[in-house]
Amino acid sequence: MASVTHYIDGRHTEQSERKQALYNPATGEISGEVSLASVSETEAAIASAKAAFPAWSEMSPLRRARVLFKFKSLVEENIDELAALITQEHGKVLDDAKGELTRGLEVVEFACGIPHLLKGEITEQIANGVDSWSLNQPLGVVAGISPFNFPVMVPMWMFPIAIACGNCFIMKPSEKDPSSTMRIAELLKEAGLPDGVFNVVNGDKEAVDVLLTHPDVQAVSFVGSTPIAEYIYSMASQHGKRVQALGGAKNHMVVMPDADLDQAVAALMGAAYGSAGERCMAISVAVAVGNVADALIEKLTPKVEALRVGNGVIEGMEMGPLVTADHLRKVEGYVAAGVEEGATLVVDGRGVEPEGGEGFFLGGCLFDNVTPEMTIYRDEIFGPVLAVVRVPDYATAVTLINEHEFGNGTAIFTQNGDAARQFCHEIQVGMVGVNVPIPVPMAFHSFGGWKRSLFGPLHMHGPDGVRFYTRRKAITARWPTGLRAQADFIMPTMK
Ligand code: NAD
Repeated sequence: MASVTHYIDGRHTEQSERKQALYNPATGEISGEVSLASVSETEAAIASAKAAFPAWSEMSPLRRARVLFKFKSLVEENIDELAALITQEHGKVLDDAKGELTRGLEVVEFACGIPHLLKGEITEQIANGVDSWSLNQPLGVVAGISPFNFPVMVPMWMFPIAIACGNCFIMKPSEKDPSSTMRIAELLKEAGLPDGVFNVVNGDKEAVDVLLTHPDVQAVSFVGSTPIAEYIYSMASQHGKRVQALGGAKNHMVVMPDADLDQAVAALMGAAYGSAGERCMAISVAVAVGNVADALIEKLTPKVEALRVGNGVIEGMEMGPLVTADHLRKVEGYVAAGVEEGATLVVDGRGVEPEGGEGFFLGGCLFDNVTPEMTIYRDEIFGPVLAVVRVPDYATAVTLINEHEFGNGTAIFTQNGDAARQFCHEIQVGMVGVNVPIPVPMAFHSFGGWKRSLFGPLHMHGPDGVRFYTRRKAITARWPTGLRAQADFIMPTMK
């Protein structure tokens, strides 16, 4: 049985007074327990990070990057163990867990370039004998709060860049699947990271509220559901912190009449049902334009019915369980609501017979004739439920997407370059795919949605990540060899 505590100042701590059970969602059995940090435990992590900051931030960027190089190779050496920890607590199939680790490592690789990324700008001779330059300095202690669905990748969107920039980090992972994040902390230490530079505090609102309000925390990165993202953004901003808070999603994929239907169907299967739909970039709405809908449903139906659902440790499984019993009930509730509200349930995944486990399983569900007023269209379901909405033309598809409250990701499948270009231009969504169903930007670009999918001005990782975790200083200097000018009492201007 796992007994997960906290990782503060380079050590696992004692059990906290408050604890919560951990489950293996594939079997439905309790697999351990996680400590929920108190105010004083969270304050201890902040104090450790604050104490580590002076030495870490003074270390040269090249030396900080070398720690991350070493960390990258340690993650690669331990990838099977890390993937097993993710599957055991999240439920996703092992290959998908490895995919998550690989996408996280890409941010580590990006952060290894920090000596280059931190370079400022210089203008020589802004006036006679005067030069000006800007430089980027770390903020101090920064915190990250992450969701259950990517227990390693989402923390890796945050901490590699933060610590490479010279900050010290406090990670608050999801209390549903914290073990892989704890292993990451151990590997960072093994890579040579000084104690206190990366701390993990497990817990719930009690720990989070300390991170949002403590005067020694300079910035907060959050990824999770929209109601909590709004709370984090407002609370941390009120306490004078920088905040980037990424929220929920409802991602539409437009299938144009000229799309290659086999390609579109293959893309929809992976994007809607991979990771049991528990991805912020999952496609949950297929927008069938014109006469494409009947053929789309015809091709999708046998594939959804044939999904291999079971324990993610079994080779060949395509979909694992949902993360908790509560979440399973919630998603099943949406399926029932869809039927009640008049959508056509073409494939019903309730009562699926999974392979190798009796846990929190739901098979793939496919709805046709979904309309914008229905709950299953409006809400983020976060499960293996795909809704097909029929629209007469391209313009209606665009209006539909632009009027949705979320704007995380979207895609268009078409063979018409002109339509695709127009779509990229006018769609009100942060990440757009053209014949690519899940357009997650690579680590050297930045990740983020629009509308109620992101609160705060900067996206995550890539160039925005470096901007978020540093502050600029502009320096103007001259080195006169004698008093060349008398005191000047008017506003300085460039001459
Ligand atoms: P969640 O909002 O329930 O939890 C996220 C984090 O917030 C966890 O660490 C949790 O402990 C903490 N938290 C929960 N309630 C809190 C409260 N009242 N006060 C303070 N902290 C609290 O989200 P989840 O269920 O873990 O993850 C799924 C959600 O995350 C989905 O909505 C999904 O779309 C979203 N998500 C978004 C992105 C993105 O990039 N936009 C990426 C991944 C997940």
